[in-house]
Amino acid sequence: KNKVLDTSSKDLTPSYDWFQTDHLVTVVIYTKQKGMNSEMVIVDHQDGRLRVDSILRDYSYLLHIELSYAVQEDITVHIAEKVGKVEIVLKKKDNIPWSKLGQPLESHSSFIKCTDRGLCYRRCKLISKTEVTHDTKLFCLMLPQSTHLQVPVGHHVYLKQIIAGTEIVKPYTPVSCSLKSDFKEPSHYDGTHLILMIKIYPNGLFTPELDHLQIGDYISVSNSEGSFKKSQVQTLEDLFLLAAGTGFTPMVKLLNYVLTNVCSLRTVKLMFFNKTEDDILWRNQLEQLALKDKRFEVQFILSEPKKEGTGKQGKISSSLLSEFVKRSKKDSKILICVCGPAPFTEQGIQFLQNLGYSKEEVHSFTA
Ligand code: FAD
Ligand code: NAD
Repeated sequence: KNKVLDTSSKDLTPSYDWFQTDHLVTVVIYTKQKGMNSEMVIVDHQDGRLRVDSILRDYSYLLHIELSYAVQEDITVHIAEKVGKVEIVLKKKDNIPWSKLGQPLESHSSFIKCTDRGLCYRRCKLISKTEVTHDTKLFCLMLPQSTHLQVPVGHHVYLKQIIAGTEIVKPYTPVSCSLKSDFKEPSHYDGTHLILMIKIYPNGLFTPELDHLQIGDYISVSNSEGSFKKSQVQTLEDLFLLAAGTGFTPMVKLLNYVLTNVCSLRTVKLMFFNKTEDDILWRNQLEQLALKDKRFEVQFILSEPKKEGTGKQGKISSSLLSEFVKRSKKDSKILICVCGPAPFTEQGIQFLQNLGYSKEEVHSFTA
């Protein structure tokens, strides 16, 4: 009776079922889609409510249930990628038989466009705050044990704070804990923590409040959003990254991802725009990476340099880009990624379009 029966072979609406042993309750979602992965399933369990959001291309299938009985905090998620089956294993607090899984909650069993789903937040604990530059810090947030949330490359989350009685929400792009050319082993932080690189604006609305958070404090973090798809880099040969200021953040996971996973890749070039030399994020790590990995090259462009002769001077321009964005060989498959202040990104896209690059060859990170 828990199953939405699939009567038509063409019906691609997911369905679910559940079963139990003395100690465990297993919820199974049949997504009916191949190529599922761990990033496509977001699980939360708070106050006896289980919420499982399965992202199937542009659609979201939600399971949302007030569980019949209490379960322990640690929840396991298994994904059978090829058959598209998602298994959520819950540990019973009391070893009694359940006659039903629970009561349906809002939007339970709905299958709608992701854009219509709305954001879901969970409280995350601030574990550490470390300086990157004079105004930018790394915030490490720990997800609740009962949350399964992995942010895909190039996607962002929203942080929410109540400021002077008003709910304020701003987007931030998670980064990896470092840039590594030997990025083979997943970090122990993967899947359990989110690392955000955030610039604090003294006159800003949101970031000064964020900076006031103490270690051990909690902050609300949303599901992720974003238009970037890994398929855009799958058979890539040349990758060009144009980043300004904190527009560097989406480039971090992207760099780690392509240098580790894209075997067709020949060159990756980052052009990093900042006001002064003191504003350059992870300069040392970028230079180390360029030394270690011959495919990677970085150039720093300063708009307000303090000293003469420390790198190139200027702002984004057509001549700078035409020199920089050059295919490593004729007809090579390229992608150019742009991220920074809105006018920077808009100008970048315009210059690239004028230089003859197609829409598919240019990706900009925006909310
Ligand atoms: P705001 O109040 O927005 O002010 C920012 C600056 O603008 C301040 O210097 C302020 O004095 C000035 N300002 C405000 N209003 C005006 C005005 N009317 N005229 C002139 N100046 C003004 N940021 C990061 O640090 N890290 C990230 O990973 C990151 N990821 C992002 C991802 C996406 C998709 C997007 C869209 C943005 C991202 N941002 C990121 C930016 C972030 O969302 C915030 O915009 C940023 O933190 C500023 O927030 P704030 O409220 O503190 O500052
Ligand atoms: P910043 O003010 O320190 O400027 C960094 C560089 O950007 C400058 O040196 C200059 O070269 C260039 N720049 C700035 N304003 C420009 C303009 N009007 N025209 C052309 N070039 C310009 O940058 P910041 O304070 O670190 O801001 C970073 C921006 O990136 C923020 O607006 C943030 O919202 C955005 N961001 C977006 C995403 C995303 O995914 N969309 C992610 C992270 C950051």
